Amino acid sequence: MSLLRVTDLTVSFAGRTGQDPVRVVDGVDLHLDAGETLAVVGESGSGKTVTALSLLGLNPTAPTCTTTGSVLIDGTEVVGLGERSWQRVRGSTVAMVFQDPSAALNPLLTIGTQIADAVRAHEPMSREHARRRAVEALDLARMPGAKGRLGQYAHELSGGMRQRAAIALAIAARPRLLIADEPTTALDVAVQAEIMGMLGSLCSDLDMGLVLITHDLGVVAGHADRVAVMYAGRLVETGTAASVLRDPRMPYTQSLLAATPRVDGPARQRLTAIGGRPPNPRDRPPGCPFQPRCPVAVDRCSTTVPPRVDLGQGHSAACLLVEQRPTIEPPTATIHSGPAVSGDVLARFDDVSLSYPVRGGVLRRVTGHVHAVRGVSLSVTRGRTLALVGESGSGKTSLTKMLLRLEKPDRGVVSYDGIDVAKPDRDQVRTLQREVQVVFQNPYASLDPRMRVRELLAEPMKVHGLDTAEAELAGLLRDVGLDAGALDRYPAAFSGGQRQRIAIARALALRPKLIVCDEAVSALDVSVQAQVLNLLADLQQQHGMAYLFITHDLAVVRSVAHDIAVMREGQVVESGPAEQIYQDPQHDYTRSLLAMAPGHPSSTAAGPAPAAGLETASQRSTA
Ligand code: SF4
Repeated sequence: MSLLRVTDLTVSFAGRTGQDPVRVVDGVDLHLDAGETLAVVGESGSGKTVTALSLLGLNPTAPTCTTTGSVLIDGTEVVGLGERSWQRVRGSTVAMVFQDPSAALNPLLTIGTQIADAVRAHEPMSREHARRRAVEALDLARMPGAKGRLGQYAHELSGGMRQRAAIALAIAARPRLLIADEPTTALDVAVQAEIMGMLGSLCSDLDMGLVLITHDLGVVAGHADRVAVMYAGRLVETGTAASVLRDPRMPYTQSLLAATPRVDGPARQRLTAIGGRPPNPRDRPPGCPFQPRCPVAVDRCSTTVPPRVDLGQGHSAACLLVEQRPTIEPPTATIHSGPAVSGDVLARFDDVSLSYPVRGGVLRRVTGHVHAVRGVSLSVTRGRTLALVGESGSGKTSLTKMLLRLEKPDRGVVSYDGIDVAKPDRDQVRTLQREVQVVFQNPYASLDPRMRVRELLAEPMKVHGLDTAEAELAGLLRDVGLDAGALDRYPAAFSGGQRQRIAIARALALRPKLIVCDEAVSALDVSVQAQVLNLLADLQQQHGMAYLFITHDLAVVRSVAHDIAVMREGQVVESGPAEQIYQDPQHDYTRSLLAMAPGHPSSTAAGPAPAAGLETASQRSTA
């Protein structure tokens, strides 16, 4: 018997008065055995998170939300359970790990108290016994120094450790099924690899099933046994990770794979972005919901809803052309042609060091220093992209802060186009403000929600006395693929990808020569990420600006960087042309970072690669 069997799951949310309910999840079937990992993938709005919340009874109750169909977890039907019954099931039978561990941990209680309380909520036991169980759970989550963490609060832990504490909390009552919603999206590559490896071990050690909600196909390839691809609330393809990634039969799955940057692909490869956006659940097109975006659609796709066709060995796909095997090839030839190497240095870090004081005691006296950057020498060449890669705490953000005049170096010189960034005169300050711009990770936080796009774009231009005529503003939007109609709307009216385009347009408004992209695409869906990466490459060719690209995603680096600098513990351990670093990394740390990157063919890889070049976990384990 399957540990999880979902049959014809449908979740509808009530519409406004007089409107029909909106089906957000529509007839989904899933199954999962103990010890297995099932990845549920799809863009934002595909229904994957609502599906996951249904497995935990966390969707709103009727009449706001109606759930029908069947969800059997370890033999128990959970659709229709009342809240009291759910309280028994949640934690002991099924538990969840969220993307943001801070949302799962109570900031006012110690880690030990929270985990012990979670255990005692399901099993009567002494405090001492619950405390031992808490240490066990932390050990299982591979928390270093588990016993010593019991008295700590969430804010005292790093991001990776906080996620381990949240996982320990979720598994403390030994659930049979764990749901993990983008558990590693916010973490760097090394911590991501450790956490995913640990979740996989937990499944086999505790004979538990894992449902992994993710948009990262590299993570799917590395860690999932089976995959369910969702689009517009429907299950459109499912099968083993090997068969779906190697031989995707639904054009949407193929499009997702073609849009995914590959750590083992050609350098500076143009990605195949998926045009358009997923449909609004209230306004789905008739026929196949993917039809408006499908590059191989035929006439009947707009009238006939494709049934899911069984392709054998558990692989099925919902496409009217499934027998004809339509294919959307990942691009191979269209490479961004970078500008000729001029050797003309735009920004330079010359033996730069930066440390932060550590304060302690009642009087907050300085008790020591953390050396964030140590003797770094690097340069950013005009018109080229330098990617700064490294784990959290490696010093890449501190280094960039010195270029942006948010920190002053303790030693060494940071210069931009001949200006000493730490000691600019008045005119030079204006030059730096105009010519060096930043695009941040979170487009939701970087745009003032009270300003219309027109004001967001015009604000920095007015400060620098530039022309803010309608045609100028419309031209900026055109550059980033938006039309002038967007000028009078507020940021809330746009999707995440469109907001990031607006943030880029705002950065372009001052015609910069250098743009710092601080994890600028890591919060975006793979399809939108491909659009933004292509856009950044096009703008570089058009305007010749340089990018300093800070990221932990080595596949993204592969698709954008001319040059790479790898940072560790405040130092640059390796730097050089991107191709050289990917083909022949010299430093052990660079090699280990590359080996940990999702989708990277590790030294044990063998056999033919799946369609997107993503090696699956099962391929590795059988190699
Ligand atoms: S049914 Fe038609 S529109 Fe839908 S994925 Fe297949 S070919 Fe594309």
